[in-house]
Amino acid sequence: MANKAYQFRLYPTKEQEQLLAKTFGCVRFVYNKMLEERIQIYEKFKDDKEALKKQTFPTPAKYKKEFPWLKEVDSLALANAQLNLQKAFQNFFSGRAGFPKFKNRKAKQSYTTNVVNGNIKLSDGYIKLPKLKWVKFKQHREIPAHHIIKACTLTKTKTGKYFISILTEYKHQPVPKEIKNVVGLDFSMNTLYVDSEGKRANYPRFYRQALEKLTREQRVLSRRRKGSNRWHKQRLKVAKLHEKISNQRKDFLHKESHKLAKLYDCVVIEDLNMKGMSQALHFGQSVHDNGWGMFTSFLQYKLAEQGKKLIKIDKWFPSSKTCSCCGQVRESLSLSERTFRCECGFESDRDVNAAINIKHEGMKRLAIA
Ligand SMILES: [Zn+2]
Repeated sequence: MANKAYQFRLYPTKEQEQLLAKTFGCVRFVYNKMLEERIQIYEKFKDDKEALKKQTFPTPAKYKKEFPWLKEVDSLALANAQLNLQKAFQNFFSGRAGFPKFKNRKAKQSYTTNVVNGNIKLSDGYIKLPKLKWVKFKQHREIPAHHIIKACTLTKTKTGKYFISILTEYKHQPVPKEIKNVVGLDFSMNTLYVDSEGKRANYPRFYRQALEKLTREQRVLSRRRKGSNRWHKQRLKVAKLHEKISNQRKDFLHKESHKLAKLYDCVVIEDLNMKGMSQALHFGQSVHDNGWGMFTSFLQYKLAEQGKKLIKIDKWFPSSKTCSCCGQVRESLSLSERTFRCECGFESDRDVNAAINIKHEGMKRLAIA
């Protein structure tokens, strides 16, 4: 089975908007309530892992008596809040994330609901959802008949637009493709990647211009008095620009990953820990920061759909310091050295050398080197 998500713009009525706002609020409320209780349990048993495992955790159902208005919203949305909290704790226990945090009003306005007994249906530009009934939406793409809808995530953006992401499942067993063409990619902060054939992906000019504009508008925002009319106006301007940029980036990442998945049978990349990396390099605020993660997930499914492969190699592999010609590993290589030079006489652009090494390492994995 494979999954694919389809995203569409939603056009709720005023009444539906109110119910959506209420649902976002209830989901956040229940999440925070459950977190509060789990923190108490955690504090009590944190030194006794076995006892902690045996504890029963709160469910949304238990709050419905005390807070009857919770019954007015989609109960599946509340159940998903519980699952999300569970995942947050699993990530924390496995060391992948920090301790779960409370969701404040600024948190993403979103909830997920599931298909149960045909409660979700599509018909003629409308989608039927629990509690909301028929909501108008712009279906610019058909969902193939063999795809089964599993869940829907509804989101309101900061500029007040509504979107629905429809998650589908379908039977897909692509025939594994014989691997002939392999390419290695070296991650690059500025251009996304440099490949083992010396090609660079380049963010389009309009995208980079929009980024510069965003920096300027953010600076204007920081000068406005918080809460004033002009601040609100500027904040909306910044949010709109943010949305535009993230859409442009997504388009670009789709195009780039599509191109590679078409050209090659196998793509080799380094398994970078983007979160750690952005923290280390103080790129936390950068709008680039989720580009690589999104790009690799696009690549992954686009290759898989065709029976092709994405190989991630260990992030500690010395891709930059190794000579791609003779294999000798240099002891040090400063960031300012843009050209890689080896004692063997090999000379190459630093990033291209790294990309070739990544490709070789991937081929070793495939045992076709
Ligand atoms: Zn060499």
